[in-house]
Amino acid sequence: MAGRKDLKIGVLALQGDFARHIQTLERLGVQTAAVRLPEEIMSLDGLIIPGGESTTVGKLMSRFGVDKVIIERAGEGMPVFGTCTGAILLAKDIEGSDQPRLGLMDITVRRNAFGRQIDSFETDLDIPEIGEEPVRAVFIRAPIITSIQDCVKVLAQLEDGRVVLVRENNCLAAAFHPELTDDSRVHEYFVRMVEGSKK
Ligand code: GLN
Repeated sequence: MAGRKDLKIGVLALQGDFARHIQTLERLGVQTAAVRLPEEIMSLDGLIIPGGESTTVGKLMSRFGVDKVIIERAGEGMPVFGTCTGAILLAKDIEGSDQPRLGLMDITVRRNAFGRQIDSFETDLDIPEIGEEPVRAVFIRAPIITSIQDCVKVLAQLEDGRVVLVRENNCLAAAFHPELTDDSRVHEYFVRMVEGSKK
C-alpha cells in the first residue's frame, strides 16, 4: 500500500481558487502541485478542480487539452473532486446551459442557485460520513445539485433538503468551498478516496 507521502494530488490551476486547496493538501501530508498540462495530469493519483468561473475553466480545459486526459484518467479510476465550479464541470447536465464540461457524474446542477441577493453565505452542514461535528461550509455564487441518478450518493444537504455534496464512485462534488476554512475533514475524505484507489 502506498504511504500518504507517495500520493500525489494535483489541483487544476487554469483559473480560480487553487492555492488554498494546495495549502490544505500540504497540511494533510500528501504531495501536491498546481497542474495545467495534460502530462502533469497523467502523473497524478487524484485531482481537485477548484472554484472559479465554470464557463472560463471549461473553455480553458479544452484549449489546454486537459479535458480528455481528465476524462480518461477518471475512467481508469483516478479520484476527482470538484468544488463549486469543479462540481459544475463534473455534472452531465447543467440547467439551461450547453457550456463545455467533463460530464463525469450523473447529476444535474443549477448554477448560481442562490441568486444575487444572497450570493455568499456560510452554514453548518451535517456530513455523517466525515464525523459527528458539523462542517462549516462557505457558499460563494454556489450551484446546487438539483437531481441525481441512483448511482450517486448524497453526503450532505442544506436544512431545506437541497443537495450540496455528492459522491459517485471515484468522483466527489461539493457546491461549497471546503478549502476556505481550517477544517480539513472534507479534503481528508477525498485523500482517503485516493488512498483507497491505490490499494
Ligand atoms: N458561479 C460560478 C460558476 O458558475 C461558480 C462560483 C464558484 O466557483 N465559487 O462557475
